[in-house]
Amino acid sequence: MQRLQAFKYELMPNGQQQRSMRRFSGSCRFVFNKALALQKERHERGEKKLGFAALCKLLTEWRNGTQTPWLADAPTHPLQQTLKDLERAYANFFAKRADFPRFKKKGRSDSFRYPDPKQIKLDQGNARIFLPKLGWLRYRKSRDALGALRNVTVSLSGGKWFISIQTQREVEQPIPQGGAVGIDMGIARFATLSDGTFIEPLNSFKKHEARLRRYQRAMSRKVKFSKNWSQAKARVTRIQSRIGNARRDYLHKATTTISQNHAMVCIEDLQVRNMSKSAAGTTEKPGKNVRAKSGLNKAILDQGWAEFRRQLDYKLGWRGGWLVAVPPQYTSRTCPCCGHVSADNRQTQAQFLCVECGFEENADVVGAINVLRAGHARFACEVSGAAMPPAAGTHRSDSGTVQCRP
Ligand SMILES: [Zn+2]
Repeated sequence: MQRLQAFKYELMPNGQQQRSMRRFSGSCRFVFNKALALQKERHERGEKKLGFAALCKLLTEWRNGTQTPWLADAPTHPLQQTLKDLERAYANFFAKRADFPRFKKKGRSDSFRYPDPKQIKLDQGNARIFLPKLGWLRYRKSRDALGALRNVTVSLSGGKWFISIQTQREVEQPIPQGGAVGIDMGIARFATLSDGTFIEPLNSFKKHEARLRRYQRAMSRKVKFSKNWSQAKARVTRIQSRIGNARRDYLHKATTTISQNHAMVCIEDLQVRNMSKSAAGTTEKPGKNVRAKSGLNKAILDQGWAEFRRQLDYKLGWRGGWLVAVPPQYTSRTCPCCGHVSADNRQTQAQFLCVECGFEENADVVGAINVLRAGHARFACEVSGAAMPPAAGTHRSDSGTVQCRP
């Protein structure tokens, strides 16, 4: 089994390298935005969208032309990769996976990618890496990068430069350990497992929220681009990255534990994006109860359900396990004891009491049990045995998710 994995380290660049990296990511942003503007213009004129090859040709012209000669200072491949990113953004938009591609802003996801391993030299013994037009860069080696190098991404986050080394290696096909479990996602409890255990919510954002808001206010009072403003901005960035780190760490611990102990994990196929979008509504149709909902939405985003699912998916895949997504129908209203479906079963947010048979249990645990049952049913009918090809309407992603459509 081939395993793709990324290893991320903090870079320790010298002043010249820092300046170069800032310039390179600026050049990539420029190329992305220029190409996006071009595609938009063509669309307005009713012309066809340019493909990757045609854009690359244009890029060569831009680099050799007189208007933007500084583009020639940046390495070619990362500039081409940014065009590839634009292609992907369009593809995601057409597949309805994402919004229309947006122009890149300075200071937001500043990064660039070297796609060709032949141009990169990784010297792990001396904790350094060679990148075209940057030379040897030192990095903080927290662990060994395993496998053959495939590509490298350089990024700026919270005022620090990082390097992410993507590798590929052959690992033994693992035998999944443990049984099956259902998971109910919630606000009061981040995740409840069908065995009754649960994961407390991480309110890292809430905890830091007041401080963040105070810093943001302070920043807005300063004269933009002044020295005071830059200092205030650095403080805001620092706390934002701290929030991000705490959240990532928390999610990784939770998903590692769950995927280590279960061969099959069933979750509700929640449309997190839709849920978090609905509150504001549109101008014609303003959302109801916006204040309360936006609080809920923030909590959802805060806890990163989508990220939780993504991590579970690939970690189970690594261990040979399965992630089964089931449509969230009646999972909170069905009695796991007698099967009676009624909204009355759920008297309060926290308590489930069956009006038919009197079965009583924590509502989230009931939800998790029902998710597990739905997952078992799906799994049995659609993927009977690993050797059988999945039925129509089901596909197994590379990482092992069973996607089920209602
Ligand atoms: Zn019942």
